[in-house]
Amino acid sequence: MTRPFNFSAGPAALPEEVLQQAASEMLDWHGSGMGVMEMSHRGKEFTAIAHQAEADLRAILAVPATHKILFMQGGAIAENAIVPMNLSRGGRADYVITGSWSQKSAKEAHKYCEVHLAASNAADHHTTLPDYGSWQISDNAAYVHVCSNETIHGVEMHELPDLAALGTQAPLVIDCSSHIVSRPIDWSRVGVAYAGAQKNIGPAGLTLVIVREDLIGHALAITPSAFDYQIVADNGSMYNTPPTYPWYLAGLVFQWIQRQREGELTGLAAIEARNVAKAKLFYDYVDASGFYVNKVAGNCRSRMNIPFFLPSDDLNDAFLSGAKDAGLLQLKGHKSVGGMRASIYNAMPLAGVQALVDYMKTFAARHG
Ligand SMILES: *Cc1c(COP(=O)(O)O)cnc(C)c1O
Repeated sequence: MTRPFNFSAGPAALPEEVLQQAASEMLDWHGSGMGVMEMSHRGKEFTAIAHQAEADLRAILAVPATHKILFMQGGAIAENAIVPMNLSRGGRADYVITGSWSQKSAKEAHKYCEVHLAASNAADHHTTLPDYGSWQISDNAAYVHVCSNETIHGVEMHELPDLAALGTQAPLVIDCSSHIVSRPIDWSRVGVAYAGAQKNIGPAGLTLVIVREDLIGHALAITPSAFDYQIVADNGSMYNTPPTYPWYLAGLVFQWIQRQREGELTGLAAIEARNVAKAKLFYDYVDASGFYVNKVAGNCRSRMNIPFFLPSDDLNDAFLSGAKDAGLLQLKGHKSVGGMRASIYNAMPLAGVQALVDYMKTFAARHG
């Protein structure tokens, strides 16, 4: 059976090889007589799965020894509260608004600390990236929060801000939910990176938090124990029962990433090269089409999430139903933006983007 290409923004498509491996191991993992869902999280089988996944992620993203990897729950939205509880020390935190997700983060942080907006692209309807040099960072900011890929508006930071060069010692916190493991991360610039798993890593239910060690251990007294980075770290992410099956599937995805090849490139470098090629194919076509439009500024167009518009909203239903018939699923844009959105995460092959472009050409020829 060939499956349709799935452009969902999240939960999103997983590599087919991974799903097949999980299916084949469902009833009996490696001769243990148990499925992964049925194992004690403290047993030797799951401990091996968990440690391997962590080691593979550390290798793929070149996470330095200065940063701990935590496997948590609650998604990126819970981290919107967990970050200020752990990092703000009750003071002030700076937020940069580049779209819906960073906006939501800033709003939630208000409950736990004083929030200062250091920059915003709201006047441009979230289609630009405010110049790093123009950010108004507080002298006493406990941290500076950004969303490094805005899943809904399609704005991506292709280079993370260097806060030290901007004259502040505050650590950078990134919500990288929708582009983690799509490209390398410059850890010298990052204090905390967090990501829900369901975009590029695995099933919903798992949240990855990668945090510099000196930022651990300063949680507000009100912080729930299960959300205190110190307690989570001290217990190897097993203070409470972790989402064992998503953790296992994430591990299979990490192994899949390590197996990827693109010419001379391997692993994350191969994945990144493929993502660059996929995004270029799509944007080049949209820009040349004279029919479809993407409104995001050229220097911050996301490689992962691409909102686009037809010449008239009256064509949207016909576009979506024709796409479905052509085996191209979940292209409807987010309700706050409208139009269409193609999410082309790691699991989307170049052939899927090509199939979408081919369909879009046919549709434009018929309706242009
Ligand atoms: C999907 C997403 C979220 C929300 O994640 P939840 O798992 O629903 O908490 C937050 N931030 C970004 C950037 C996202 O893409």
